[in-house]
Amino acid sequence: MELLRTLDALWFSRTGRFISSALSATASLAAPTWCVGCGADHADLCPPCRADLRHLTRRPFRAEESAEALPIVAAPRDADPVVLPVIAAGRYEKLLADVVVAFKDHERVGLSQVLAPALVRALAVASAQLLPDGHGVLVHPPGSLKSRLGRSYEPVPHLLGSMTLPSTLGLVPGPLRYRFSYDVLGALPGRGGQKTKTAQARRRRGQSPLRMTAGAPDLLRGADVLLVDDVLTTGATLARLYRLLTASGVRVRGAAVLAAAAPR
Ligand SMILES: [Zn+2]
Repeated sequence: MELLRTLDALWFSRTGRFISSALSATASLAAPTWCVGCGADHADLCPPCRADLRHLTRRPFRAEESAEALPIVAAPRDADPVVLPVIAAGRYEKLLADVVVAFKDHERVGLSQVLAPALVRALAVASAQLLPDGHGVLVHPPGSLKSRLGRSYEPVPHLLGSMTLPSTLGLVPGPLRYRFSYDVLGALPGRGGQKTKTAQARRRRGQSPLRMTAGAPDLLRGADVLLVDDVLTTGATLARLYRLLTASGVRVRGAAVLAAAAPR
């Protein structure tokens, strides 16, 4: 347990970040590259496919209708309940889905260059529509240790780190973590049953698998928070973040995502 704790700390340390970025740089030098959209050589995304991607994400839109697990943020007496508003850069389909999957799951880290502008557009619309004075702080879900072991970078933080944020938006780095036992037991080979038992016990106690890091509530309290994630499907991840943050007195105004799954 102590070793894993040390590993986890190392991963988040300067050295760990250096090693992981060096690994991903080496991987991208060694691996042949082809366009995720059309297979053309020598580019993560060729110029015509880049233009297509820009077209697919040119108009961010409200996407909360299609996600049934989003939290209810208001229940007016004479109207339908209001769920957490979410702005998506595009639909999770066609080229955008292929690019997001390649970036998240196939180590195509260079695609951050084409995804970052799409997320910036979604964030700009989200700030204008959802933040009372346009100013806010961004919070993203933490990566689990399991996902960190399988990747050399964390998709959402990497994307946020590779773009120029609008000056009205701040980023609090890593305010949330998965609880340690959940993280570790799920990551160890052959311990799936244990993870399930731990998760079930936690649910019985009404405890979230997430926790806030020390100092995070003080940093976030008083700010208007926008959640940021890559893909919106049911909205369960955003709901978990929302509940944890609001329980600590943090004001969550909405969310922005790269891609939203089509309504079922
Ligand atoms: Zn192409």
